[in-house]
Amino acid sequence: MKSKDTLKHAGKRKRLVDTLSSKGIKNQKILDAIAKIPRHLFMDSSFDDHAYQDKAFPIGADQTISQPYTVAFQSELLEVTIGDKVLEIGTGSGYQTAVLCELGCKVYSIERQQELFKKTKLFLPKLGYRPKLLSFGDGYKGLEEFAPYKAIIVTAGAPYVPKPLMAQLDIGGRLVIPVGEDPQVMTLFIRKSKNEFEKQELGEFRFVPLLENKN
Ligand code: SAH
Repeated sequence: MKSKDTLKHAGKRKRLVDTLSSKGIKNQKILDAIAKIPRHLFMDSSFDDHAYQDKAFPIGADQTISQPYTVAFQSELLEVTIGDKVLEIGTGSGYQTAVLCELGCKVYSIERQQELFKKTKLFLPKLGYRPKLLSFGDGYKGLEEFAPYKAIIVTAGAPYVPKPLMAQLDIGGRLVIPVGEDPQVMTLFIRKSKNEFEKQELGEFRFVPLLENKN
């Protein structure tokens, strides 16, 4: 049985938000989302005391819930607004999914780990989060059926940029993806036209790997 959300948790979230602001996160809607979402409920209750530290934590199946700073940094780069269609690769705990839902996005998210997929699909609606679709499958392929997307976020380290993700991006859309072995370079692609992409590299991060051909 998961523990409840209390005033004490809310206080810890407020301090986490202050930390993220001091590290340079400016988007108020993202800070508000982090102040609101009970991150401790996305992890095992034995981590309750650590849930509001700015750190990644294990969520089972050898995976981690991303560090709050990383979630905020990637979310900021997406530059999404209410109603935008967003594709997330690597649902994991669903925490990043919840942030995107709080921002008012229509969220499509893919997870390749059966166990996590099932758990998160049951869990998010309990908190009132209703992504458009949680899909069990291989993120390297994207989700052609609902393309194009205003933004695509990859929450695992990709050895290379999967072509389908570039192809499924809307003109003017933004793809945020950590690329490389270890560490990864946070990379932003902005689609300027059918064949033109602007690329920006935005510093080093560490993610669990985006696994290929493991379905
Ligand atoms: N956004 C998640 C981060 C989880 S870690 C959160 O906030 O909790 C990255 C996730 O990517 C893991 O759950 C892992 O199983 C998943 N993943 C790895 N390779 C994948 C692939 N090819 N397709 C879809 N998901 C993948």
